[in-house]
Amino acid sequence: MSPPSIVVVTGANRGIGLAIAQKIAAAHSHPNLRLYAASRAGSDLGIQPAHEGAQVLYPSLDISSKASIDALAKSIKDEHGRVDVLINNAGINVDAKYSPANAKLTLDVNYRGTLQMCETFLPLMPAHSRITNLSSVGSSLEHYSPAIAARFRDPNMTLADLAELADEYQHAVTTHTEVPTCWGGTGRSYSVSKACVNAFSAILARQRPDVLVNACCPGWVSTDMGRLVGRAPKRVEDGARIPLRLAFDDIGNVSGRYWANASIRSKEL
Ligand code: NDP
Repeated sequence: MSPPSIVVVTGANRGIGLAIAQKIAAAHSHPNLRLYAASRAGSDLGIQPAHEGAQVLYPSLDISSKASIDALAKSIKDEHGRVDVLINNAGINVDAKYSPANAKLTLDVNYRGTLQMCETFLPLMPAHSRITNLSSVGSSLEHYSPAIAARFRDPNMTLADLAELADEYQHAVTTHTEVPTCWGGTGRSYSVSKACVNAFSAILARQRPDVLVNACCPGWVSTDMGRLVGRAPKRVEDGARIPLRLAFDDIGNVSGRYWANASIRSKEL
C-alpha cells in the first residue's frame, strides 16, 4: 500500500501539534506528501520536508467555526479529492477561569469542533485512512456518578445521545448544579470535553469500520497547556509519539479506542 499522502494536522503552530507536523515532514516524507499544517492564523511555520517534492501547506483553520472547517475541506477536496490522515490536535483548557461561558467554549472547541472536523472530513477519507483525536487522561470517567459514567460507556451510544449528555453538563454548569447532578464538582469542562472525544471516536469507528478512528492521551507534556498545571515532564517530541503511532504505524487495525502511554486502554478508563 502506498504511504499516506494527504495529511492534515490541526493546531500545528505550537506545542504538540507543531512537533507532530515537524516529525511527519521529517519521518514520513515522500514525493507525494502534502502536509496541511493548519493553524488559526494560517502562519508559515517554516517546516522543511525531508523529501524533495513533498509539500507543507499552511491553511488557516478555526475548528470552532463550521465555515472555516468547510472551507479547508472544500479546498482539499478540489485539489486532491481525499484525505488519508487527520490528526485532530487543536484544543483548549480554560478551566482555571471557570465560568458557564468558558465551559461552553471548551465544549465548542474540544468536543463540538473536533467532532465537526471528523464529520466533515470523513466523507473524503478512503478505506484504510486514519483519524487520531487528541484526548487526555483527564477524560477518566471515575469522577462522575455511576449513572453518567454508564451513559458514556454505553456501547450503543449515538452521536445524538452524546450531544444530549454534553448539553446536560452545560446546563448543570449554567445552573451551578454540577455537584448534585454528579459531574464530579466544578471546573471539569476540559475533562468532560475529552470524555466526549473518546465517546465520539468510538461511535465514528462503529459507523466507519473501514477507517481507523482512535483517541489518545499524549502524556503530560511541556507546552503552554501542559505548564498550566505544573512542571510537565515530557518534551513535545515525546508527546507527539502516540498520536503519530496511531496515524502511521501498524496498530493491528484497532479502532474506536482510547490509547495512553503506547498501550490500548478501553474508553472505560
Ligand atoms: P497548546 O495550548 O500548547 O496548543 C494548543 C493548540 O491548539 C494551538 O495551536 C492553538 O492555536 C490550537 N487551538 C486552540 N483553539 C483552536 C481552535 N478553535 N481552532 C484551531 N486551533 C485551535 O496545547 P498542547 O500542544 O499541549 O495540546 C495539544 C493537544 O493535546 C490538545 O488537544 C490537548 O488537550 C492535548 N493534551 C495535552 C496535554 C499536555 O500535557 N500538554 C495533556 C493531555 C492532552 P492558537 O495558537 O491559535 O491558540
